[in-house]
Amino acid sequence: MISDGKFGKYGGIFVPELLIPALEELEKAFLKYKDDKEFNAELEYYLREFAGRPTPLYYAENLSGKLGCKIYLKREDLLHTGAHKINNTLGQGLLAKYMGKERLIAETGAGQHGIATATVGALFGMPADIYMGSVDVARQKLNVFRMEISGAKVIPVESGAKTLKDAMNEAMRDWITNVENTHYLLGSTAGPHPYPTMVKHFQTVIGKETKRDILEKEGELPDAVIACVGGGSNSLGIFSEFIDHKEVELVGAEGGGDGLEGKHGATLSAGTEGVLHGSLSFVLQDDYGQISEAHSISAGLDYPGVGPEHSYLKVTGRAQYGPITDEEAFRAFKLLSKYEGIIPALESSHAVAMAEKYAKENQGKTIVINLSGRGDKDVNIIADYMGVKL
Ligand SMILES: *Cc1c(COP(=O)(O)O)cnc(C)c1O
Repeated sequence: MISDGKFGKYGGIFVPELLIPALEELEKAFLKYKDDKEFNAELEYYLREFAGRPTPLYYAENLSGKLGCKIYLKREDLLHTGAHKINNTLGQGLLAKYMGKERLIAETGAGQHGIATATVGALFGMPADIYMGSVDVARQKLNVFRMEISGAKVIPVESGAKTLKDAMNEAMRDWITNVENTHYLLGSTAGPHPYPTMVKHFQTVIGKETKRDILEKEGELPDAVIACVGGGSNSLGIFSEFIDHKEVELVGAEGGGDGLEGKHGATLSAGTEGVLHGSLSFVLQDDYGQISEAHSISAGLDYPGVGPEHSYLKVTGRAQYGPITDEEAFRAFKLLSKYEGIIPALESSHAVAMAEKYAKENQGKTIVINLSGRGDKDVNIIADYMGVKL
């Protein structure tokens, strides 16, 4: 490997030896094509014409009035397939094509990354096999159907707790056996090097557009940039362009679930250091290092690990992280829907709730919220939560 993929002491490559050649091949291709003119022109074409970039940086006037701050929303919810995930699947899908791979595999929890991968598989004419815990397959029938309609095969995983982390293990196993013709399209800034660096790279487009647009609208950088953190890709995507500007506060909202005393997915707020899925980071684990089950009302935030760069940003104090409970996210979901006519994903609602808290302590400041996805997929969960029968 050219790099050890470390962020401070976090990250790295903790995988079976059999996987090292595959990771090396991927690192080499990524380093070659990330600055390649033809590759980037083609990627920009698909981001624009297929996915709908650039996305607006929208001044949320009503919410600003209500919270006493200037609030801007980075509208990743307007992208094709409804979230920022398509930025990464287009990037990696195209890279796989340039590498001459013929097949995509991916893991998925609730199905959002599976759908974004199935979409790119259809676009580039590559078969896509999506590993999904059998518990999630049963819970997310509609998303399974959407993947299948786009031509992907959904493979139920019966091991462990039969959810996301088990699906990730199974996808890695498949990759070891089929690395010749297969690309493993990992969905967030987690996993072994080069994934955390590569996925962040494909999401930095969010930060680049945001910086350009806020400078045009405000003439200066924002006081704070706020995003939700599951594996960490939408947050690192928007943080990336502001990390070197120390005056900009970076705030991450984790899935606080029932609160830190109960079940939650707040890895950085309440976890400890450990190795999960090939890298050293904060994880939710018991005293024996067994990975705990995470919980959040939003499927995208209930991962018991977190991307290693976030661990580094946390311990160096460059970014702050805090939990948002299910109840707080639910209220923020209703707030944005009612005040702005924008129904946010439950994941993104965590960022909105965090912005409310920030605004209370920092009146008059300028805040950018990354609206990572739209909430159509969550309307049933909200109705259930409210006891409304649809
Ligand atoms: C998957 C998802 C997330 C969480 O993933 P990150 O890698 O942390 O960005 C957040 N928001 C939405 C809408 C998602 O679909």
